[in-house]
Formats: sequence, structure tokens, C-alpha cells
Amino acid sequence: MVRLKGEFDANRAERAARATAYPTDNNQFEVYCDLCGEVFFVNELIFEKVNDALREGFENPFVCEDCRDGAGEYDER
Ligand SMILES: [Zn+2]
Repeated sequence: MVRLKGEFDANRAERAARATAYPTDNNQFEVYCDLCGEVFFVNELIFEKVNDALREGFENPFVCEDCRDGAGEYDER
């Protein structure tokens, strides 16, 4: 989905969707980082995304922020 005015909203959604190392009100679902294998907790949206991918035989799409920063695979621009 592409929305022109979406930049601010997207940033907010991104922040809300941040994975945490412990369960929170938003993050109740356990996923593993594909790179470091650590357990993180995410919201239902991310969890379903990860689960869908795994069910369809794709690799685990979840990568924690540390690995994401380190790997530099995600070009923000
Ligand atoms: Zn990681």
C-alpha cells in the first residue's frame, strides 16, 4: 500500500511495531530473529507476517533491529 501522506503514519506504525525482548501490551507474540536467533516479542501483525512466510516455505523474515542495523540490508531510502 502506497500512501502519499503516509510518511508520518508509517513512522508511527513502525515504532509501534517495534519488536521488544520481553512481552508488552503490544507485543505478545514470540518470534526468533533470523540472524542471531534471539527471541523477540512482536505484535500480531508482524507475527502473522512471519508465520505466513514460514508456512509458505519462505525464510524467516524477522530480523531484530540490532541485526538489521549491522547487516545494512535494509536500505531506508
Ligand atoms: Zn538479531
